[in-house]
This record gives sequence, structure tokens and C-alpha cells, in this order.
Amino acid sequence: MSMPSEKAEAHLSHPLFLNALQSVEQAAELIKCDENVLERLKKPKRCIAVSVPVRMDDYSVKVFTGYRVQYNSTLGPYKGGIRYHQGVDMGEVVGLAALMTFKNSLMGLPYGGGKGGICVDPTKLSRTEKQNLTRRYTSEIGPFIGPAKDIPAPDVGTDAQTMAWMMDTYSQESGYAQPGVVTGKPVEIGGSLGRVGATGLGAVYVAERAFERKGKSLKGATVVIQGFGNVGSHAALYAHERGAKVIAVSDVKGGIFNGDGLNIPELMDYIKTNKFVENFPKSKPISNEDLLLLGCDALFPCALENVIDTHNAEKIKAKMIIEGANGPVTNAATTILHKNGVFVVPDVIANGGGVVVSYFEWVQDIMSFFWDEEEINKRLKSIIIKAFDQSYTMATEKNVDMRLAGMAVAVQRLEKAMLLRGLYPR
Ligand code: NAD
Repeated sequence: MSMPSEKAEAHLSHPLFLNALQSVEQAAELIKCDENVLERLKKPKRCIAVSVPVRMDDYSVKVFTGYRVQYNSTLGPYKGGIRYHQGVDMGEVVGLAALMTFKNSLMGLPYGGGKGGICVDPTKLSRTEKQNLTRRYTSEIGPFIGPAKDIPAPDVGTDAQTMAWMMDTYSQESGYAQPGVVTGKPVEIGGSLGRVGATGLGAVYVAERAFERKGKSLKGATVVIQGFGNVGSHAALYAHERGAKVIAVSDVKGGIFNGDGLNIPELMDYIKTNKFVENFPKSKPISNEDLLLLGCDALFPCALENVIDTHNAEKIKAKMIIEGANGPVTNAATTILHKNGVFVVPDVIANGGGVVVSYFEWVQDIMSFFWDEEEINKRLKSIIIKAFDQSYTMATEKNVDMRLAGMAVAVQRLEKAMLLRGLYPR
């Protein structure tokens, strides 16, 4: 793999991006992708950096740096979240925008890939400061976004309220309401039903399909979940509702275990008042490290990246891993797990439910016609299972793991579209 060495390309050297490039190159080799297409897929189309001056509560002005990377728009407008975190830099945003390009392609959505962010610790801002920051950032990237151009969404450190401020700022500057400029908004201003639980539900649909392919059933299966936030708690709830036995879950403070199965609806009520899962009745404590090593039919890592790497991959006893989080299993660990017969469903498939329902939100906003939750879940199931099946067929035909297979399906769709559209100007 060629390393970008020029100073001008320093933002193309982030480990996250280099990891994505490695997968893209392996996938391109597998499907014998056109060389010129591959060259284009290895570079972001546009990287925007903006200064964001903000009036703070003490009346001083602080200048933050914001980014929006528009990686590829072959399949449609750019789509991807906005991250507020002190670790955000251009390199990280390029890596995340590349991943969105391939996830959107694999899901068969009419979207390119983008990502944005601001280097800031949002926990240190008051509500007013966060609102000022969001509005000025939206104004700065305003010329580059829009329902037909680039549609942001929430990510780490941002939420439905942040999207409401973005939508309002963009609409005020346009002179009329433009709900389709962002997704992940509150339902009251054009958000979609089903968006909150979509990623967890998508992961469970994928798990059901994976069990089916292995001649087994999620019903009665033992399930372990790391992370009991948005993704993990909904995955736990939907798995429980389908008759799975969720024997352990955890959060940042540690985990809880009950071999007969935890009562997930009661646990969801419990964390509303207690915030963390610790001391939940009828459970024993377990550490996050040990939780990952439990024997079970399916393990859902839904918290952080790189929790399964070469130091613990050999010790994993789960029969299947469904990546609810982004990047919880490293590439090297995936190779070890594949060799040991552990079936790993990668993040690009397993957590695609969020962006799929974001797509539904955008479609509903454009039509100004809203669907009920049953309709949304039915359509989500059909899209995510198609992505799983296409990857499964690729994995079987080429005898590779699902991570490489999913990337190959994504690159193949982009390749076809890029060759059809051609290069302008010549
Ligand atoms: P969240 O903040 O709602 O939940 C994160 C959970 O992980 C919390 O329970 C937290 O306590 C736990 N956690 C944090 N540090 C931990 C640690 N060291 N050990 C164990 N648990 C820890 O976040 P979320 O929205 O559920 O996102 C989780 C992951 O899923 C992230 O990787 C995110 O990028 C990815 N993801 C989320 C969505 C979505 O729609 N929310 C979509 C796609 C991917």
C-alpha cells in the first residue's frame, strides 16, 4: 500500500483512514476493480476547514476549528454525521467520511459519503455556548450543505437538539423551512419515527439472518452485549423480545450477569433512575474484559472501537460477533476469529440501521409525507438483510470473511457507477 508522503497530504495519514484504505485495496483486488476507479476511491473529493468564533458565557470570544469532508458523491449527496470531540482533526474526519462512503454504498442508499466535526470538548460548554457553536458552524459550512448536496446527522457529542439548531440556522438563512438538510432531528420538526432504536434493531435483524444462515435461531440463543447506550440497550431489548436470553450487559462502570437471562425491559426502567447497570437485582457483577470472553451464541460489542484485538481474540468463546459499535474488532483479530470459526458480522453491515432510517427521514421530509413505525421497520429489515445477503454470497463465493466481503460489495457498486458516469472534464 502506498503511504501518502507529501506534506500537503498529511491529513491522509490518520490510522483510521489508512485502515480503511487497506480494506479498500484488499476488496479491489478481490473483485479486480478498475485501477483508475481505485485511484479515485483512495482520495477525498473535498476537505473543508472553517474557523468557528463563538461568544462564550463570560462574553469572551473563542475560535474553534470545524471540518466537513465530502469524500465521494458518485451515488448521491454526501451523508454522514457531525462529531463534537476534543480529538477531532482533519485526518479523523477524512477516515470517517471514507467509511460512510462504503457503508452507504453497501446499504444500497442513493448517497455518497461525508463526515464533519469540531475540535471541542462539548461537556465543557453550556447549552447556550453549544447552541452558538452549532449555529456559527452551520453558517460557515452552509454553502456546501443542503438537502440535495450534503446531509449531516448526529454522531459522538451531538444529538437531536444539535440537529434542530442546524436545521433552524440553515432554514433561517434560506428564508424557508428546510427539514431535509439534516437527519436525526426530533420528530416534531420532521424527524422519523423509529430513528432512535434503528441501529439496535438493524443489528438484531442482521443477527436473526446470520443465525438462520447457520441453521439456528435467535430465539433461545444466549446473547452478551457490551455497552448499554443507544445501540446496546435497543439491541438487548429487541433480542429479548424475540426470545433470546440476554445473559450479560455492561456499561462504562462494568457489567452484570445472569445465566438464566436478564429482564431487559426492567433493566431499561432501572437505568432511567440509576443511570448505570450496576447492582441491578438478580444479577452478579462482571468486568468488561471478562464479559467479552463469556461463552455465548452471539456477542454484540456496542461501546468502543478496538475492544477485541490480538491480545484477546484467541480467547473469545462467542460463536458469532455482531459489531454494533464502529470498529470494535480489529482487522488482525478478525483474521484470527475467522480462522477459529467465529462468524463476525462487520460494522458496515451490522450498524447500518441508523443511516438507513436517516435515509427514510430525508425521503419523508422531501415528500412531506410521513410513514408509521411499522412501515419504517419493515423497509429497514428489507434493506439491511439485502446488504447482509449480498455480503454473505460474496464471502462464500470468494472464501473470505464478512468484513472483506462487505467492503467488496461496496467497492463493486461504486465501481459500476463511476464507470457509467465517467470522468468530467476529460
Ligand atoms: P452511547 O453513548 O449511547 O452508548 C455507549 C455505551 O458504551 C454506554 O453504555 C457507555 O457507558 C458504554 N461505554 C463507554 N465506555 C465504555 C467502556 N470503556 N467499556 C464498556 N462500555 C463503555 O453511544 P451509542 O450511540 O450507543 O454508540 C455506540 C457505538 O455505536 C459507537 O461506536 C458509535 O459510533 C456506534 N454507532 C452508533 C449509531 C447510532 O445510531 N447511535 C449508529 C452507528 C454506529
